[in-house]
Amino acid sequence: MRPTGKLHLGNYMGALANWVKLQDQYECYFFIADLHALTTDYADTSRIAPNTLEVALDFLAAGLDPEKCTLFVQSQVGQHYELPLLLGMITPLGWLERVPSYKEMQENLASKDLTTYGFLGYPVLMASDILLYQPDFVPVGQDQQAHVELTREVARRFNQFYKLDGREVLPEPRVLLTPSPKLPGTDGRKMSKSYGNTIQLTDPEPEVRRKLKTMVTDPARIRRTDTGDPDKCPVGDLHKVFSTPETLAKVYDGCRSAGIGCIECKGWAADALMQVLQPIQERRAGFSEAHVEEILKDGSNRAGLRAERTMVEVRDAMRMSRTETQER
Ligand code: SF4
Repeated sequence: MRPTGKLHLGNYMGALANWVKLQDQYECYFFIADLHALTTDYADTSRIAPNTLEVALDFLAAGLDPEKCTLFVQSQVGQHYELPLLLGMITPLGWLERVPSYKEMQENLASKDLTTYGFLGYPVLMASDILLYQPDFVPVGQDQQAHVELTREVARRFNQFYKLDGREVLPEPRVLLTPSPKLPGTDGRKMSKSYGNTIQLTDPEPEVRRKLKTMVTDPARIRRTDTGDPDKCPVGDLHKVFSTPETLAKVYDGCRSAGIGCIECKGWAADALMQVLQPIQERRAGFSEAHVEEILKDGSNRAGLRAERTMVEVRDAMRMSRTETQER
């Protein structure tokens, strides 16, 4: 995950909540992609380090447990600089130019000059981030599948050129599709930091209630006596994700019969959100900055050891192994 600052409910439901479950089933590596932040924020790097810390805190608050998974910072693991250079040598330009997000991001971030080598090459960085751990799976939502597909193509190309004692070094990882429910922001569009419509994991209860009060509703329900439809209302979407079946039934009945008002309905939604946010906020308060840094340092060391195992094989396969003299 890129260090964009404090995380919001959309990040939680789209990724973190799934990761917390996966750490009990798989050997997992989760990292904060601060080198990826450089691909777009190279001109002003002042927010990258503080944002990295905020994201780490949110990871831990959401329930990622450094005893169960490896949590690290990308730039603290040197192999994340080395493999992209080697894979960049074999990746055709056309593959990078056709990545759907390449043009899209250039258009969305028109104020930044993204005609850089680093930005065009970010899928190679991403492929390296994955392949360094020789994983079986990459847990992604539907919109990220194209990146994993490119990673598979890069691995395949590498394996065609180079082998180690006749065997392939970089297995092609598979997509582990994780559920990412539709989560609207307060303006009804997809919850996203760039729209300024988020509910953050750190928002205190009064702030959550205030934000929900301003949230858009079914446009057909103008007066209290008008009936509405939760399927056409962003607040209804929140209920579908967070509320109990009993509350959801009351929302459907009350909204369609005008038996409840939107203010009452939003209050129930806020109650349901707080059920999720409260334990996250309590856990977050238990971590000091020094403790988080220690966890990340330890995780980065562990990740480095695993990544180096891959790099030894990669260098050997490419006949680019360091000589003993160089190592000394
Ligand atoms: S009652 Fe609830 S679901 Fe119905 S329009 Fe109002 S906020 Fe939306």
